[in-house]
Amino acid sequence: MTQTTETTFYCANHPDTPTTLRCNRCEKPICAKCAVLTPTGYRCNECVRSQQKVFNTALWYDYIFAVLIALVLSYIGSRFVLFIGFFTILLAPVAGFGIAEAIRAVVHRRRSKQLFLAAAAAAAIGCLPVLFSRVLLPLLFGRGGLIFQLLDVLWLGIYAVTITSTVFYRLSGIQVRR
Ligand SMILES: [Zn+2]
Ligand SMILES: [Zn+2]
Repeated sequence: MTQTTETTFYCANHPDTPTTLRCNRCEKPICAKCAVLTPTGYRCNECVRSQQKVFNTALWYDYIFAVLIALVLSYIGSRFVLFIGFFTILLAPVAGFGIAEAIRAVVHRRRSKQLFLAAAAAAAIGCLPVLFSRVLLPLLFGRGGLIFQLLDVLWLGIYAVTITSTVFYRLSGIQVRR
């Protein structure tokens, strides 16, 4: 009996399609085809799109700064790895944290997933010169204690993985906590 008293709405984009769904942001009736399921419920396409713009505020030069900062700091850090060895496990997260904070200071509150991915990729690339010098030079010239070279490569690998993931998750964490 209560069903008959319920008003039927028609989708804002499809006037022939009756629906009970509404966008939970603008309250517009939307059919199942138009509704987009977001973490906060069903939304219309327009609201999802305008929301994405808010989450994608990085400017073109933010990419340049973020990549340069990540490249340079990651490279400097990778040189330290050769001196600190085992302590890389403890200090690499700190380095990743520092790189993320430095990038954050420059891009302020602007953000985009691509920006964070670019920064993380740059952090990984920054490790490569030292990593290659440790892998390739001994192979090419066949000198130096092989065990020590292998250990260096191990620490550098741990360093690369740690700072790459720390930079990415630390930067995108800002997005979540907004
Ligand atoms: Zn809406
Ligand atoms: Zn529709």
